[in-house]
Amino acid sequence: MAQETIFSKIIRKEIPADILYQDDLVTAFRDIQPKANTHILIIPNVLIPTVNDVEAEHELALGRMFTVARKLASEAGIAEDGYRLIMNCNRHGGQEVYHIHLHLVGGQPLGPLLS
Ligand code: C5P
Repeated sequence: MAQETIFSKIIRKEIPADILYQDDLVTAFRDIQPKANTHILIIPNVLIPTVNDVEAEHELALGRMFTVARKLASEAGIAEDGYRLIMNCNRHGGQEVYHIHLHLVGGQPLGPLLS
């Protein structure tokens, strides 16, 4: 059984977060330490610790994460200029919270990802 993280508490609204969207499959909220003008996290409501734990049964939630990313990017007014979607995995990927999350970052030029 995977260990719950602070994100499960955010989903259940047990701790405060600036939630922008929630449905039966996913929750989206503003990153508490934004790295860009727009920085939103989109997470599945079910606990999946890392991308290495993704199974076929998660495909609906994973797909929903992208449609919600598209919707929130549009609502934030950053769709046309563009944005970046990032998912970190484990230590070398820089993952800190072990409940997968899609970072939606934009609202400014982001520069090259790898340099
Ligand atoms: O991909 P990674 O695991 O490094 O990202 C975790 C993200 O979760 C960080 O950007 C951090 O600011 C964010 N976070 C948050 N609210 C919390 C704890 C972490 O938005 N309560």
